[in-house]
Amino acid sequence: MDFILQFSEKNKTDIRSLSLDELTELITSLNYPKYRADQIFRWLHNGVQSFDEMTNIPKILKSALSDCTFIAPVTVYKKYISDLDGTVKFVYRLYDDNFIETVVMKYKHGYSICVSSQVGCKMGCEFCQSTKSGFVRNLLPGEILGQILESQQNLEIRISNIVMMGIGEPLDNFDNTIKFLKLVNDPRGINIGYRHISVSTCGLADNIIRLADYNLPVTLSISLHAVSDDKRNCIMPINLRYNIQKLLSACRYYQSVTGRRISFEYSLIDGVNDSDADAKKLFDLLSGIMYHINLIPVNKIENGIYSPPDMKKVRRFNDRLTAMGASCTVRRTLGSDISASCGQLRSKTERKRGI
Ligand code: SAH
Repeated sequence: MDFILQFSEKNKTDIRSLSLDELTELITSLNYPKYRADQIFRWLHNGVQSFDEMTNIPKILKSALSDCTFIAPVTVYKKYISDLDGTVKFVYRLYDDNFIETVVMKYKHGYSICVSSQVGCKMGCEFCQSTKSGFVRNLLPGEILGQILESQQNLEIRISNIVMMGIGEPLDNFDNTIKFLKLVNDPRGINIGYRHISVSTCGLADNIIRLADYNLPVTLSISLHAVSDDKRNCIMPINLRYNIQKLLSACRYYQSVTGRRISFEYSLIDGVNDSDADAKKLFDLLSGIMYHINLIPVNKIENGIYSPPDMKKVRRFNDRLTAMGASCTVRRTLGSDISASCGQLRSKTERKRGI
């Protein structure tokens, strides 16, 4: 059973990271019938934090399971609620005392959650707080799922949409991201449709192609932010590995396989990427792709050198694109009073601990 040590800490597997097939293999290897695996899978996906809570499972099986597995905890450390729009931001603590962030937003069509995929990030984007204190580790599939289960329980809601736009680069934690997507889509679990899930990437082109080959119809969201390699190299080091042309060719491949419209995120930075010429070049670059562009005035980060353009300039950029026929909107800012964007609270938490 290869998976047994796959998601392991202190030689114990995170049981919530296991698919139902893997869990069944484990339970039958302990000489229990298959239906026990179904029951345990249900408990895990209901958000239990301990084996004790599984009231219909024999004690002796629970004890055998806790010898070789654990439920990697995702526990609320801090919770902030926006007075402006009700957006909730959680700082979650993990088994090894690392912290991550998760944001829950209410929209007309239901609740949307923004989950983290790594503790920290290696990608080095100049404008992003998450990467400033470096990379610590990948999240386990069960820890990505755990953010949803905990948030649902804490707020007594059902999440209907997921965006992988929190801390980390999901395609740099590729296998665990795939595993998470399958877990969250499982009809015996919380069963969120792939079409209600967005995977956001700064542009790991090879892994976009690998993701396409899984043919899960998730929305691919590309953090583009610049339209020339010179500029993109300066603000997003990943561009030195996969330039814009390689990235867009991977996007075309993704679209040809999945048939899904691609989202392009474009953070407007004053005086850097917000000219009329940038708007025209952006429109030309995306020709032949079925897309939607989200414009986001960049959030100023601590000690950051980039500022957002004023709203007049943001609207002008949007209007230029729309006039050319692009599908484009300015993203609404939610939770601005609680530092709801990427990585800001984790860095405050780490600083308070003197890390
Ligand atoms: N690594 C992934 C997902 C995490 S970042 C990615 O790069 O897509 C989620 C989104 O927030 C990305 O589009 C990222 O570029 C953007 N972002 C990060 N810091 C930002 C900031 N200070 N202002 C505006 N957008 C930011």
